[in-house]
Amino acid sequence: MQQQESALIDLRSDTLTTPSTAMRDAMLHAVVGDDVYAEDPTVIALQEYAAALLEKEAALYAPSGTQSNLLALFAHCDRGDEYIVGDSAHTFRYEGGGAAILGSIPPQPVPMAMDGTLGLDAIEAVIKPDDFHFARSRLICLENTHAGEPLPLGYAEAVAGLAQRRGLAMHLDGARLFNAALAQNRTPAALAAPFDSVSICLSKGLGAPVGSLLVGSAVLIDEARRWRKV
Ligand SMILES: *Cc1c(COP(=O)(O)O)cnc(C)c1O
Repeated sequence: MQQQESALIDLRSDTLTTPSTAMRDAMLHAVVGDDVYAEDPTVIALQEYAAALLEKEAALYAPSGTQSNLLALFAHCDRGDEYIVGDSAHTFRYEGGGAAILGSIPPQPVPMAMDGTLGLDAIEAVIKPDDFHFARSRLICLENTHAGEPLPLGYAEAVAGLAQRRGLAMHLDGARLFNAALAQNRTPAALAAPFDSVSICLSKGLGAPVGSLLVGSAVLIDEARRWRKV
């Protein structure tokens, strides 16, 4: 069906963008293969491109950003580990409680400011001591951009310093990381640097009909691939 030309721009969501003719053409003519056997040259090229772009070792394609965030949580955390997350973050509020429901990974929410930051003291205050009454604090999850705002420059580095000191891993929900990179005149790799893993969306204002990638170390991505199968 032909789409109608319209002067109105639908701003309900940035996922409303549709593929351009060039993108449809690329999809039609893409060289494809069996991804289970790692034999789809186009998926492999996309994953290698994303890993190189963010200067990490490896990447994994997932159909949605909710799924790539969930794969990150599964890859970082065991059953009974918790993740520290903003109380209005996508990974806390808008993913159906998937980590808790499917992974036995409880969230530990912390108040989230409009610019996406969580107070360093607030993070520190919810990190649990090693005591069997508590879930094990394992991971800090940030989001960039949040509510249309990029994280302030230097903030993720400060959180990473805290995470390193307290032995926690760092995941970024970078659904719109490229918007932040453009707004702040930084490379996507520079914004990804403080994190062990980053999820990015291809369907947010980039025109792709679906798709997300989880990017991180080869070991972490191997673990995520296992969970993607599950
Ligand atoms: C859109 C979005 C996601 C992923 O959403 P999907 O619809 O599952 O692809 C994750 N985090 C943020 C911040 C988002 O805006």
